[in-house]
Amino acid sequence: MSKFKGVTVITHPLVQHNLTRLRDRRTGPQEFRRVLSEVAALMLYEATRSLAVSAVLVKTPLATARGYQLRREVVLVPVLRAGLGMLDSILQLIPHARVGFVGLKRQEFSLRAMFYHKSLPPDLSRFEVILIDPMLATGGSAVAAMDLLAELGAKRVRLITLVAAPEGIRRVQSHYPRFQIFTAAVDRRLNPRGYIMPGLGDAGDRLFGV
Ligand code: URA
Repeated sequence: MSKFKGVTVITHPLVQHNLTRLRDRRTGPQEFRRVLSEVAALMLYEATRSLAVSAVLVKTPLATARGYQLRREVVLVPVLRAGLGMLDSILQLIPHARVGFVGLKRQEFSLRAMFYHKSLPPDLSRFEVILIDPMLATGGSAVAAMDLLAELGAKRVRLITLVAAPEGIRRVQSHYPRFQIFTAAVDRRLNPRGYIMPGLGDAGDRLFGV
């Protein structure tokens, strides 16, 4: 847990080890991609711990066993472009998930989030939605994405974000107090350009080298 109610800070040593490598300015795009992908899988494991399951019976070759299956379908929603860096490894753990996309760009001066792409199932009410964005900075993109998810009926949204700023957490929680946030770190603050301090820089640039 963290000092923010509803925010889970994942303190697992492997997550923290990988986060530190991602923060390091010497980590180039090739290694950044690999480590971000690894850490995403570890974070997903924690973020899905509380998914609802239904009890089922399954016939083994020898007898009947009690088991569980996920109660609801899962939709993964990476925020373009940096969210793509966390998608593949998450999909390997939930290969049956659907994948929607939202493309959001921050306007340079106002820092307002604008959509340039949306593709999602039309009715999200029966899904578990996992929103994926490595950086929760002002919270503008996260809230814009959540507005869209909520308009489409989403009731259960988990945000997986590697590094969060207190400003972003407060903004998300003031709009969507019931949506859960999973992060590896809550950093100090935003700088005047809306970057997380100390953060790791621009996650998209670090991932793709541009
Ligand atoms: N987006 C990033 O990639 N990094 C930040 O620090 C803030 C927003």
